[in-house]
Amino acid sequence: MISTYLLLCRLLPLGVILALTLAACTPSAAPSPQTAAQLTPAARGLAEGEKLRVVATTSIVADGVAQVGGDAIDLVTLLPLGADPHAYTPTPQDLRTLNQADVIFINGLGLEEALMPVLGTLDSAAPVIEVNAAVTPLAMDGVQEGHAHGAGDPHTWFDVANVILWTGTIRDELSRLDPAHASGYAAAAKRYAATLTELDAEIRARIDTLPQERRKLVSDHAEFNYFAHAYGFEVIGAVIPALSTMAEPSAQQLAALHDQIAAAGAPAIFVGTTVNPRLEEQLAQDLGIEVVTLYTASLSPADGPAATYVDLMRHTVESIVAALGRHPYRAPG
Ligand SMILES: [Zn+2]
Repeated sequence: MISTYLLLCRLLPLGVILALTLAACTPSAAPSPQTAAQLTPAARGLAEGEKLRVVATTSIVADGVAQVGGDAIDLVTLLPLGADPHAYTPTPQDLRTLNQADVIFINGLGLEEALMPVLGTLDSAAPVIEVNAAVTPLAMDGVQEGHAHGAGDPHTWFDVANVILWTGTIRDELSRLDPAHASGYAAAAKRYAATLTELDAEIRARIDTLPQERRKLVSDHAEFNYFAHAYGFEVIGAVIPALSTMAEPSAQQLAALHDQIAAAGAPAIFVGTTVNPRLEEQLAQDLGIEVVTLYTASLSPADGPAATYVDLMRHTVESIVAALGRHPYRAPG
């Protein structure tokens, strides 16, 4: 080989030698290196026994994907448990994970606002799928609006009917990328949707035990619009009066909320595990009411009370019904 190469060097112009050398190193059927880096295994076609590499942003989105994908997919949850999905920014390891994915499932509707700019600059061509694609979002004031009117409220999972819609979106995308497992994805999605239908009925039966006049929600930010809309609660207000945690309330806004809570006779402020509860504790102390911690934007660890989405909803409903039910009822005003 070496002698042949040296002989070629004497006989041929430099450009021809370079072209021959490159041709010898590069299998003719392979795409160019740039294209290869952009082609995910799903786009090339999965090899026998190769699993679809799936990334989901929040633990709540990941649970929905896991229920449909089961053992057929390799699933990585990007956000650690307890991370605030509004504020989370990716680590260098996250970027490697995202670049190796065949598909990326996000909540969307602006929830992952600090992560979104990065998803637009990935090397990989993996599709980014909103699990909420089929959901009709609510506006800030809890009124239904179409997707066309802007992002809307991202906290869709507090209405179980929306998560039933997720299962169809997840099933369709996994089946498109991995048709060999399509019947498995369809069966799992159907089973999980049935579980969620039962969960919704269970939630309604539990909430029926709480008198209508006690169904008053105060939260750390505006995250209970879907819950209130679906299950018949009134949203009194939020410490951060916005759909995102990435804002600070003014002293004026806090004073107004103080008066709204007092006027409504709401006995508790519900605070997610993903936020610092300092302002909520101060306000509750001033009003002589309770702070109740809920898993609102993240699942709990596996040994906690909200290890799955179904458990998160049960825990949320139990905590809300218990807190609003246990205090002597204070009439509004
Ligand atoms: Zn939120």
